[in-house]
Amino acid sequence: MSEGLNIIVCIKQVPATTEVEIDPETGTLKREGIESVINPFDEYAIEESIRLKEKYGGIVKVVTMGPPMAEQALRDAIAMGCDQAILITDRVFAGADTWATSLTLARCIDKLKPYDIVLCGLKTTDGDTGQTGPELAEHLGIPHICYVNRILGIDNGVMRVTRALDDGVETLESNLPLLLTVTKEINHPRLATLKGRLLAKRAEIKKFTLKEIGGDPKEYGLSGSFTRVIKVFTPSPPVSGEVMEVDPEIAAQKIFEKLVEIKVI
Ligand SMILES: Cc1cc2nc3c(=O)[nH]c(=O)nc-3n(C[C@H](O)[C@H](O)[C@H](O)COP(=O)(O)OP(=O)(O)OC[C@H]3O[C@@H](n4cnc5c(N)ncnc54)[C@H](O)[C@@H]3O)c2cc1C
Repeated sequence: MSEGLNIIVCIKQVPATTEVEIDPETGTLKREGIESVINPFDEYAIEESIRLKEKYGGIVKVVTMGPPMAEQALRDAIAMGCDQAILITDRVFAGADTWATSLTLARCIDKLKPYDIVLCGLKTTDGDTGQTGPELAEHLGIPHICYVNRILGIDNGVMRVTRALDDGVETLESNLPLLLTVTKEINHPRLATLKGRLLAKRAEIKKFTLKEIGGDPKEYGLSGSFTRVIKVFTPSPPVSGEVMEVDPEIAAQKIFEKLVEIKVI
């Protein structure tokens, strides 16, 4: 760590709206032509990676797996202050579930060694599983801490963090390299500067296709996925209920009669 930290931040490009359609053939989101943004939780991961660089020196590499249009999310991350950007893109990777996504990310990150810290957002606004971070750590064979709301510091290759639990705050420490998933409480993401946007416009975006990632194409994308999104639908609103503002005994009797009437009992 003498020459600073090697930080990797994983971001996902997500639809800017919840009005999304699912492709009935593949069970995956139709993303083409949909206005897309950096997954909101990942802006906190980007901000925290830049703050670590400012405090300990080093370099921030931002990585995303997605269609060619995801390049814009990487440029937005560079405009915020990331140094290098890697786009993992290939039709073979399309339709991936969290297992296949985290495996693809791990194969890429293995090629970016050495690294000290991998930062992820808590979850995405589309898949919303929160699974990719911990799965990625398992594929990389490194420890992970989720729901991190504060980084206390790094000393002799050991990082100390806190995270919020239902009944308090937990302080944890771990040797580096380490993967963290961060919450929205950890910081306030900075806005990209004009200088940052100009830099981002000219920045080189490294592309990793199957050729660079390696491995058997069957391990990735839809064919490498254990889960399929069969249907996405907005649940119908619950049928209207009836409020009984009467003595509990009377209410119990009324409910009993209702249940008999509708043949539940
Ligand atoms: C509506 C819907 C439901 C889905 N349900 C499931 C499901 O139940 N199980 C399943 O396995 N898959 C599911 N998927 C597919 C899943 O969205 C993809 O596998 C996705 O790439 C990762 O999962 P996630 O969006 O839940 O991300 P999360 O696991 O919530 O993401 C956590 C963090 O991981 C990082 N990350 C996630 N995706 C990428 C990426 N592509 N590139 C770089 N970093 C990334 C980011 O830092 C992000 O903040 C679903 C997709 C949709 C659209």
